[in-house]
Amino acid sequence: SIEQVRGELAFKDAVFGYGDGPVIMDRFDLSIPAGQTVAVVGQTGAGKSTLAKLIARFYDLRSGSLTLDGVAIKDLSNEQLRRHVVMVTQEAFLFSGSVAENIALGRPGASLQEIQDAAKAVGAHQFILDLPDGYDTDVNKRGGRVSAGQRQLISFARAFLADPAVLILDEATSSLDIPSERAVQHGLQTLLGNRTALIIAHRLSTVQIADRVLVVHGGKIVEDGSPQQL
Ligand code: ATP
Ligand code: MG
Repeated sequence: SIEQVRGELAFKDAVFGYGDGPVIMDRFDLSIPAGQTVAVVGQTGAGKSTLAKLIARFYDLRSGSLTLDGVAIKDLSNEQLRRHVVMVTQEAFLFSGSVAENIALGRPGASLQEIQDAAKAVGAHQFILDLPDGYDTDVNKRGGRVSAGQRQLISFARAFLADPAVLILDEATSSLDIPSERAVQHGLQTLLGNRTALIIAHRLSTVQIADRVLVVHGGKIVEDGSPQQL
């Protein structure tokens, strides 16, 4: 088992297909050093979300291996997996409940102070204070409605509070106005910190802040380089 996780990821000879369907990834190899920010780009159906979902262990490989710090992801306990690998999905999914409760999902039992500190870190605190009931605002209630950009910031605060070694982010495709876009980009940079991150990137600004860009096509990596090279 692993306690101090650095966040090094490695696929070796990985083969995957959904159910008994066709092979989607065939003898896939990829090493991501701890702390690297990797942007994944490619056409629809290329296998980007599949890659993300495998790391978050939504599915198991057919063969080959996927490891975190050398330990097979399939051998982690559910608790270890939740602790070390956090996935932020495209929908920036919020549950019915207050803003504070939604952020606290990152770390059950967190104090309001910790929740607010996470919100401050990603730049969500001010707009939350401006909501009708502040941190007690019901996110799904009329009047308490939060914008797409604000939803993303709340989900960033949740992930920041969870503080995983590995962050998987399927970036929202919905377009934001320029101030929201800037706020989300700024929040993302704080959230990235020193962790390992794999971001399915839909924004050029995200590709530009990555250490490495992977172009995926047909379940294979067809280009692998720095944002400047690609
Ligand atoms: P997009 O940009 O549209 O999100 P993507 O790069 O994320 O595309 P994936 O969702 O990883 O692509 O899909 C890769 C392949 O796996 C596609 O051929 C897709 O049809 C197939 N696929 C994805 N999810 C499933 C599933 N749940 N069951 C069966 N096949 C699936
Ligand atoms: Mg996808």
